[in-house]
Amino acid sequence: MARDITERKKSEEELRKSQEQYALAAEGANDGLWDWNIANNEIYYSPRWKSMLGYEVHELTKGFEDWENLIHPDDHERAITALNDYLSGKAESYDVEIRLRHKDGMWRWIRDRGKALRDANGVAIRMAGSHSDVTERKVAEESIRRRNEYLAASSEIGKIVTSTLDLNTIFARTVNLINERFSFYHASIFIVEETGFNALLRESTGAAGAEMKRNKHSLPVNEKSIVGKVTLDGKAVVVNDVRVDSSHKYNPLLPDTLAEAAIPLRIGNRVIGAIDVQSKSAGAFSDDEISVLQTVADQVAVAIDNARSFELSQQAVMEMREIDRLKSQFLANMSHELRTPLNSIIGFSRVIIKGIDGPVTELQQQDLTAIYNSGQHLLGLINDILDLSKIEAGKMELAFDEVNIVDITASVLSTMSGLIKDKPIQMKRVIEPNLPTVRADAIRIRQVMINLLSNAAKFTDEGDILVEVGLQPQGSTRHELRVSVTDTGPGISKQDQTKLFQPLSQVDDSPTRKTGGTGLGLSICQHIINMHGGRIWIDSEVGRGSTFHFTLPLYRKEKDDDTAGGQKTILTIDDDPQVIGLYERYLQPQGYQVIPLSDPSLAVERAKQIKPFAITLDIMMPGIDGWQVLDKLKGDPDTRHIPVIVCSIIEELEKGFNLGATDYLVKPILEDDLVNALDRLNSDGSIREVLVIDDDPDDLRLIGKLLTNDGRYKATLAEGGRMGWDIISSGNPPHAIILDLFMEEMDGFRILENMQANPKLRDIPVIVVSGMDLSAEQKNQLNESGQRLLTKGSFSETELLTSIQRSLEKAQTKNV
Ligand code: ADP
Repeated sequence: MARDITERKKSEEELRKSQEQYALAAEGANDGLWDWNIANNEIYYSPRWKSMLGYEVHELTKGFEDWENLIHPDDHERAITALNDYLSGKAESYDVEIRLRHKDGMWRWIRDRGKALRDANGVAIRMAGSHSDVTERKVAEESIRRRNEYLAASSEIGKIVTSTLDLNTIFARTVNLINERFSFYHASIFIVEETGFNALLRESTGAAGAEMKRNKHSLPVNEKSIVGKVTLDGKAVVVNDVRVDSSHKYNPLLPDTLAEAAIPLRIGNRVIGAIDVQSKSAGAFSDDEISVLQTVADQVAVAIDNARSFELSQQAVMEMREIDRLKSQFLANMSHELRTPLNSIIGFSRVIIKGIDGPVTELQQQDLTAIYNSGQHLLGLINDILDLSKIEAGKMELAFDEVNIVDITASVLSTMSGLIKDKPIQMKRVIEPNLPTVRADAIRIRQVMINLLSNAAKFTDEGDILVEVGLQPQGSTRHELRVSVTDTGPGISKQDQTKLFQPLSQVDDSPTRKTGGTGLGLSICQHIINMHGGRIWIDSEVGRGSTFHFTLPLYRKEKDDDTAGGQKTILTIDDDPQVIGLYERYLQPQGYQVIPLSDPSLAVERAKQIKPFAITLDIMMPGIDGWQVLDKLKGDPDTRHIPVIVCSIIEELEKGFNLGATDYLVKPILEDDLVNALDRLNSDGSIREVLVIDDDPDDLRLIGKLLTNDGRYKATLAEGGRMGWDIISSGNPPHAIILDLFMEEMDGFRILENMQANPKLRDIPVIVVSGMDLSAEQKNQLNESGQRLLTKGSFSETELLTSIQRSLEKAQTKNV
């Protein structure tokens, strides 16, 4: 027993000694000490231990409970677990960092370490340890961690915000991302209005933000508010405790705000707005945080600037499109407005001259001829000016076709022979035999040749005018055809030759010059030829005459390989698999092979590969306009000859031209044109009754006279579309119809559409007349006999398919 006591005494002595040593060392290191007798639950806290937390030696007398009470609620569980784990032997050591409350209410970071004394069974009976204050290190660590987090957040926000060009998206992303990533109470973005007087709230987080936006919250740009001051000075403002700083205005929607900061949005020296952030903790905004937020704000400002520039450029593009549309509209209207009255002047003077209205005296004849000639002259002028404005507006469109230049030459020469009948001039032609066809707009080429020939006739007093047509250069493999017009006129000096093709330039522009003219002709010719891919130039010497040359590319026809096996390939462009299925079901038994294509952007490429016999084309496809596809097919020399059958639902005016119209004329309509057009239809003489539909009473009367005068036709006149349709649908339809396209009330397109829907009326030939120029596309559609437009909604399946069949038959006769 005595031995036991001595033993215990000894070990206690040892412990005391080691404790003293430890205490000495600990106090030296400025640490506080504790010593806990587990058995009776008594704790000793050293004076330093207490002072570290702001307490006097006589305070904190409740032992273990005191310690537990001071622990930060968030750290409590962790501390107790660590202690229990060590005491139970689960953990090897006890060493934790926890927050304890200082007497002043602030939190202190404490490193708490300790060791236990255990009995023979390993049960802890006593434990002692130390407290070190690590607050400073912890705060430094924490600020580094937050800083890294912020930098990551800032670069992420920058990336996300700059990835859009939509201003509202930028605003919304900015406030939401800042609020969320930085864990603020509230964030908003203000933009300075154009006047510079107010900063308007553009986006704001949460319900408070929604309410403020609804109220169109804005702040004047001045010293009186935080945001106002930032937008005024362009410098960040931080209020870390709103209770002691009056620049923060209490906002009942955000009652918990304890700190507020606003960061300027700057582009160069300009302040365009501010980002405002609010926190529920006082002192929330450190310098570090503000500098990171400024980085974010700078990126947001750049994004806003980009988006605004983009918006402006978009607006400019829209405006340009609108101007473009107005230009086309203006040209179309002008040509209509100018030609309509001329139609009456030219038409009626001609009617009277020809004595249709009764006999005229020679004097009247002379006067009327003067009116007629002036009208023709005016028409020429108007056409030139309209052509030139079309060219300048980029609106000149060509209707390319396979053209035989020999035919054009012959018809031009016969028209022009009248020009020289009063002069000692001989018109000659030299045409190479077996010339291939060219790729051209026949009407425009005619216009060029007439222009060159009338110039030659105008400036030549005697001698020859020679028209030569041949390959360029002779016998070479170049795919070009050359037309040359040579005269024996005055010639043009080298110097004058340079300005010849400029608009409005005349070699002799003195007021005393002999010949009239506008100086527009040659510049229009040059544009037309250039648009054909050809060239125009002049060879001339003063005193020896002039030669004008132009070239045109030859028409190359693809060999039709696919018909070899007796099977004709149809390329079907449609996004609807059901429609494709329908075509297959119907066309395959007829010997056609249907190749579907659902991606219209590949139309030209596939058409080149497959070289189909015909193409069916849907107009309304998602994302792409069938007219563009048609344009591409018709614009490529390798695919332009393939007949295209348009099958679609469209609301555009163009549809009329596919509805079976067989010819078209542009006003003013001359007698010859009209009768020729009818004659073309009337090869078998079966047409007698012709219905004329026009809403202009003068035009109506004129056409009526022209037809009646011809003697072969009986004209019925219908003023306006409604009346016309009544006659057509009366059960006694006419043999042919002459139809004005652009009428109010019921226009020509509607009539064509209605006729198309009725099997009895569908095949009545229609000649379309119009005061407006038709676009190249429209002309093409009229010219291409293989084309026809179907309206999906209103046609039954069999009608759709028989209509295609008819189109194909036409295409076949054309190809053979
Ligand atoms: P215009 O309508 O005035 O004839 P053009 O553009 O056709 O306009 O011609 C411009 C000018 O070029 C003419 O005014 C004339 O001076 C000159 N010119 C054109 N063709 C000939 C020609 N065959 N011989 C001499 N001069 C010509």
